[in-house]
Amino acid sequence: MRVPLVDLVAQQREIADEVGPRLQAVFDSAAFIGGAAVTEFEDAYARHIGVEHVVGVANGTDALELALRAAGVGVADEVIVPANTFIATVEAVSRIGAVPVLVDVDARQLLIDPVEAERAITARTKAIVPVHLFGQTAPMERLSKLSEEYGVVLVEDAAQAQGARRSGRPAGGFGIAAGTSFYPGKNLGAAGDAGAVLSNDADVAARVRTIAAHGSDRKYVHDVVGFNSRLDAVQAVVLHAKLGRLTEWNRLRRNAAARYVELLADVGGLGLPVSDPMNDDVWHLFVVQVDERDRVLAELNAAGIGAGIHYPTPVHLTGAYAHLGRGVGDFPTTEAAAQRILSLPLYPHITAHQQEYVADVLTRACRPRP
Ligand SMILES: *Cc1c(COP(=O)(O)O)cnc(C)c1O
Repeated sequence: MRVPLVDLVAQQREIADEVGPRLQAVFDSAAFIGGAAVTEFEDAYARHIGVEHVVGVANGTDALELALRAAGVGVADEVIVPANTFIATVEAVSRIGAVPVLVDVDARQLLIDPVEAERAITARTKAIVPVHLFGQTAPMERLSKLSEEYGVVLVEDAAQAQGARRSGRPAGGFGIAAGTSFYPGKNLGAAGDAGAVLSNDADVAARVRTIAAHGSDRKYVHDVVGFNSRLDAVQAVVLHAKLGRLTEWNRLRRNAAARYVELLADVGGLGLPVSDPMNDDVWHLFVVQVDERDRVLAELNAAGIGAGIHYPTPVHLTGAYAHLGRGVGDFPTTEAAAQRILSLPLYPHITAHQQEYVADVLTRACRPRP
């Protein structure tokens, strides 16, 4: 049996009949950039998530950069970011010329630790970027309090949390703005690269649109230095069709997560993910923790199981961020997790049979050796 890490072909099969004619209509009209398909998707996504404004852009990294810039982050401003994240969160800060200030995460959810975030605040701090990792929502109440107390803005990285909620509020709806990614493997994925900025602030959303359109809000009038970051009509059509299934697909992810928890409850030495009781998680990834992770991963892979590691190298230990001057031991929780984390295959269309097979191989791999 083969169990991939994600199964995008199954998603395509579900939407093919609906998307085919709509894509043909886009090609026939040759309205590739902007237009009704993009606006309709932006509005539908805003309604679905529960935010006022959505601006479609080219990818998630752009979305974060645009959200930060529209929120007023500029050159030499300090931006607090969790050390345990995908590197794109930090790249978005760097591209502005702002200074990423990494902080450690909590050991349970592996999300930004508000105590560490507060400790890192200085007179130069402009923003905190909570990352809603693995489909969880970061502890936004405590971060919102820091935002008010210290006058720093919150810009959320919601790339892994489409449809996630915390105390009934949407991930991506707490801060001044949020960036999300529609990379194909995300809970809501395009047929290529795409992303969006979310905001409840009309001025922020308007600034995002301007910066993403070469700094122009009227044709050939350029008052700020921008760049080009657009969601195209082809991606909007695919995203709109998948959006109609997102609630159901997230429900199936929750079911699959619950099934793993049941199947793996008695495996000695295996750490299972636990939801924060305030959260309604959307399980972008199902991340367990295990000793001898590399051996266990190799055994899963050898058995045809597409397990992975998100992420093997903490940002401060990458070559790209050596210049931050942080080293081994600076973010102990992130570093310890990086040795033990293992992402199991989880996607809406995974079958009980596939999950039983994964659990079986994993259980054997975790058995103590003589
Ligand atoms: C995917 C992802 C991004 C970047 O999105 P791209 O569309 O690949 O640029 C940023 N942050 C997190 C946490 C992600 O998972």
